[in-house]
Amino acid sequence: MEMDKDYERKCYELAYLIFPDVDETVDDLEIRYPERNLPEGAKVVRIGPSPTGMMHTGTLFQAMINRKLATQSGGSFFVRVEDTDQKREVEGAVEEIMAGLKHFDLMPDEGVVGKDKEIGDYGPYTQSKRREIYRICAKHLVEIGRAYPCFCTSEMLQKTHDAQVANKVIPGYYGVYAKCRNRSIDEAIERVKNGEKFILRFRSNGSHLNKIAFIDDARGKIEMADNDEDIVLIKSDGLPTYHFAHVCDDHFMHTTHVIRAEEWLPSVPKHLQLFEAMGFKAPHYIHTPTIMIKDGESKRKLSKRKDKVAAVSYFISAGYPVEGLNDYLMTILNSDFEMWKAQNKDKSYKDFEFKLDKMSSAGSLLDIPKLNDLSKEAIARMNGDEVLRNVLEWSKEFNKEFYDLVNKDLEYSRKIFGLERDNATKIRKDIYKWEDVEPTFRYFFNDNFAKELKEEGYIITSITEEKPKITKEIIVKCLETYINEYNEKDNKDEWFARMKEVAQNLGFCVNMKEYKAEPEKYIGSIADFSSIVRMAVTNKKNTPDIYSIMQLLGKDETINRMKDAIANI
Ligand code: GLU
Repeated sequence: MEMDKDYERKCYELAYLIFPDVDETVDDLEIRYPERNLPEGAKVVRIGPSPTGMMHTGTLFQAMINRKLATQSGGSFFVRVEDTDQKREVEGAVEEIMAGLKHFDLMPDEGVVGKDKEIGDYGPYTQSKRREIYRICAKHLVEIGRAYPCFCTSEMLQKTHDAQVANKVIPGYYGVYAKCRNRSIDEAIERVKNGEKFILRFRSNGSHLNKIAFIDDARGKIEMADNDEDIVLIKSDGLPTYHFAHVCDDHFMHTTHVIRAEEWLPSVPKHLQLFEAMGFKAPHYIHTPTIMIKDGESKRKLSKRKDKVAAVSYFISAGYPVEGLNDYLMTILNSDFEMWKAQNKDKSYKDFEFKLDKMSSAGSLLDIPKLNDLSKEAIARMNGDEVLRNVLEWSKEFNKEFYDLVNKDLEYSRKIFGLERDNATKIRKDIYKWEDVEPTFRYFFNDNFAKELKEEGYIITSITEEKPKITKEIIVKCLETYINEYNEKDNKDEWFARMKEVAQNLGFCVNMKEYKAEPEKYIGSIADFSSIVRMAVTNKKNTPDIYSIMQLLGKDETINRMKDAIANI
């Protein structure tokens, strides 16, 4: 648009009236934030969390994509805190986000890295500290006639909106509905001079009758109606809207790829217009699919209120292993990750090359059973020392009592967590999160075990329901006999031979094949007999090898537990 000189002069006057104290220009900002010195193809990416509540699981997804892309390309991943909605701000939200990123090993290279802590040359990285930058940019738009003050009150806007809805036209501030857009610049100058309240709006040059096309790097070419709304740039509190902040910040921080939730996809035409009006090059866009959850037969969006898995803190407090969760994130983000992982069992997700074009654009399903499986696998890959270290780290924060128990005798704890892990040919996959460790291995800790028996009772007689021939009397007899025969000095083979002998003498079949052929001939099998012993000693149906457990508990405790079980049958 060719502006006549008089209009141009008035735009400058208006800009000065609105921003009398802004001396710097967009060019000054360009000098303050020069191009980054990065290798060819390096991606500069960011997440822009708003500190308005708990850290959402979606933020973790975004962080993973960002972390991978920046690392793979030798670029930079930064965190920008988008706190322009100050009414909704929640104390401690930034700390929670940083703790979440740190916990899952997804820390940024730059930007906000802690409460009131920022690193990098493109800051401040907190939007509320960037007011001046937005004001400089907004002033520029007023000067060139692409922004204007809007004096409409919220009541007036509501009235227009209601009329639009009643007349079945697209609601919004555009065309004839954009009252202040259509006022003369003289009137605008006059009203600002008079101290009237206003907000600042963009003067869009688009028409929704036109279609525009752009590329989303994960979704391909997208066509949409162009924007014709005169969106708000600066709100009444002096802070920018998301749209304006996004354009100013991602330009001066030299973001190459904007990766954000798909809820922003419909806003791309607005953003492209803003970039153009400012004379900036638009970044690449990638809109990530919404995270869904199964609800009965159907799928729905994760709900902050209903789903505990919507909060990253849930995965931390439940003690999901970092590697398991990150593997899971990768399986949703790139469909070929699982196959790669199957072929590269010993490698980390960090070695996998993440590809934008392999990202699904259909809603990603948060599949908890799958996450549990991958977490089980991740824990199964650890040795006893690693499990012990993780258990200590988790329990120190989330189960202090258990932490003290584990920490009291580290040698003993090391043996417990090394069971069927260290030097094992087949590793038990029984835990998938650290909070399950205490109930799973409770029988190793006498006080906790005694408490469980007191509160939850003994499970040993459950076998009488499954195997009617194994009566309570039989159970008592088995245990009494076994107590007399048990010899702690036995090695594993001797131990098993002795157990078989006792079992056989009491009418159990010690050969599973023979038992299966003629079960009616016996009271039960050797498996049933060892179940009786296992349940007496651990109050569990499934445990690692019972011989090792007895060895670890020691003779006295083992025998006491069997006696105690007898007394409670
Ligand atoms: N603050 C925005 C949000 O929370 C960030 C979107 C973006 O990454 O640009 O949705």
